[in-house]
Amino acid sequence: MIIIKSILEIREKIQQYKGQGLKTVGFVPTMGFLHKGHESLIEKARKENDIVVVSIFVNPTQFGPNEDFEKYPRDIEKDSSICKRAGVDIIFCPEVLEMYKGLNFTSISVDTISEVLCGRSRPGHFNGVCTVVAKLFNIVMPNRAYFGEKDFQQLMVIKKMVNDLNFDIEIVPCPTIREEDGLAMSSRNSYLNLEERRAALILNKSLKEAFNMMKGGEKDLLKIKDFIISEIKNEKIGRIDYVEAMDLNTLKEALVINGPVLIALAVYFGKTRLIDNIYF
Ligand code: AMP
Repeated sequence: MIIIKSILEIREKIQQYKGQGLKTVGFVPTMGFLHKGHESLIEKARKENDIVVVSIFVNPTQFGPNEDFEKYPRDIEKDSSICKRAGVDIIFCPEVLEMYKGLNFTSISVDTISEVLCGRSRPGHFNGVCTVVAKLFNIVMPNRAYFGEKDFQQLMVIKKMVNDLNFDIEIVPCPTIREEDGLAMSSRNSYLNLEERRAALILNKSLKEAFNMMKGGEKDLLKIKDFIISEIKNEKIGRIDYVEAMDLNTLKEALVINGPVLIALAVYFGKTRLIDNIYF
């Protein structure tokens, strides 16, 4: 496994691999501080491709001015050993200046589905995500790229970008990996103190119960949402950003179940904002 920081160098290395007959490139973009969620994406990429590239880049343009860019957890040593163990060929970890030469750069905005859920709470977030992912796609030129359903809206936004802008890349969705007690794995879980960590279990618990209500025949999504909201409010330290029920294909608000739906939520525990979702 090699670690590369320069765009020129990674382009050359990938060309060199291709010259050796290694044809397909699987790409896993991350912000590092890797956990088993990321590992599941890497494992899938390893199974399906000749070359596996993981990028580790805490992308400043997807953080708002009062968000956690500076203190976002970083541990390149540990990330490298996880990648090595998982059979990654190349880690691409550029400095910010390698990716952004100045403040004026072209940016990509995916309409409509970027404006709800996390897009509403974090203005500009998905522009930052799409722009960096498009740049990384142009640098790595993968055949397949792997994204987690934990960030379901992000997955949809990237799929739409790839489709709208004709990137010749297959976007591969990967299921959410959870801790044994159900909390969705996230690099941001490391911010939680013990009390917040315990309280955060309500996210998965209420989503699971909501799933069972829908399985049991409940069609009224306002009832489902109210149920989740009241469960979270019972945990006094959870502060709801949003709990929403959306059409799974369009991300338009859904009031009753008459097709596939996504129930997505974002909740603060202390200063830490966690997201989770289920679809039915
Ligand atoms: P991040 O480093 O948080 O930007 O995440 C990089 C990729 O890993 C994204 O495609 C995420 O959706 C995915 N990911 C993060 N956490 C999980 C998880 N718990 N299960 C599955 N995929 C995840």
